[in-house]
Amino acid sequence: MRITGVTQHHAENALDGSYRPTWIPGYPQATNEAEVIEVETDNGTVGYAASPSFAGGIGYEEQLSLFLVGKDPHELGSVRRGLETFDLLGPRPWHVEMALWDIIGKDAGKPVYELLGGTNREIRAYASTGEHKGVDERLAYVEERVSEGFEAVKLRLGRDDIEDDLRVAHRVSDEFPDLTLMADANMGWKARVVDEGRTWTFSEALRVARELDALGFEWLEEPLGRHDYAGYARLREKTDIAIAGGEFTDGVHELREMLRNDALDIVQPDCSVACGLGQAKSIADEAERAGVRYTPHSWTNGLGLVANLHIASATDARWFEYPYEPPFDPGARDFLLDEPLLHDDGRVSPPDEPGLGVDIDLGDD
Ligand SMILES: [Mg+2]
Repeated sequence: MRITGVTQHHAENALDGSYRPTWIPGYPQATNEAEVIEVETDNGTVGYAASPSFAGGIGYEEQLSLFLVGKDPHELGSVRRGLETFDLLGPRPWHVEMALWDIIGKDAGKPVYELLGGTNREIRAYASTGEHKGVDERLAYVEERVSEGFEAVKLRLGRDDIEDDLRVAHRVSDEFPDLTLMADANMGWKARVVDEGRTWTFSEALRVARELDALGFEWLEEPLGRHDYAGYARLREKTDIAIAGGEFTDGVHELREMLRNDALDIVQPDCSVACGLGQAKSIADEAERAGVRYTPHSWTNGLGLVANLHIASATDARWFEYPYEPPFDPGARDFLLDEPLLHDDGRVSPPDEPGLGVDIDLGDD
């Protein structure tokens, strides 16, 4: 079996209004954009991959073709070596690997989770917010998610004043004592379209960590810059709350450094941006051996979400991120898919069709 062609599609979906993601400080996001990579083979099997994109995207179809066309998609080692070279020269290529798993699964008649040694078990989904909202608005949001069956919600921190972060955390915790709560500080990386948004000092991160620990939060995510391994390790020594991170590292090496430096209690590689599908499973396995939990970041688009869900189903992940902050709702999030991946009473499981198990809808592309 050989790869015969690579086609790149820029896909874009206008949201019903805009929202202000905490990881793009000071900038309203009005579209969800993706670069979709379609990989064709000589037996007619086609696989798909997607990367998050912005501002109309960057074209790399021709360059990617150079590394893929003529290869057997089953030879993942060879493909990965090509992608590592591509990473030196162009945009992050890690998402591309999911297209190969899609092909391998379709060719074998097996869903990707099965190729990874998993089942399509149900995982508890947590409703992942994306904005800084005031207390009343956030309480109303949480009420809606609880009524839909969610047992967990992740709040966003990183406002100008950490007292405002803590006020919202306290109120949600007080009003919903049975709900599992996570918090994401988004200090690991930021998309600085506008030069706003500072990074916490170590003492601010420690203050927040201790306060959320007292409230019983499940984890605190990215409280420091993503390369501050020593800071992460020190924070873990000084507090008991689980510290999470690693969603947007570049390549598997950075994730291994985090594990080697005892930086994390929970590692969160997103296979579509951080390291590729097979490598994310390897990191999840390494983490398990090191006593570190794994639960992936999944806030990109429907294809990325499904790819991460296949991996999570083949691990002991206890929670799965379900991005949900209207107008970034499941329909807008999963606009690349024929049907959005919906939760069932706060639980998700991967599709059981061969490959990634989803049909792609590229609209008018
Ligand atoms: Mg995060």
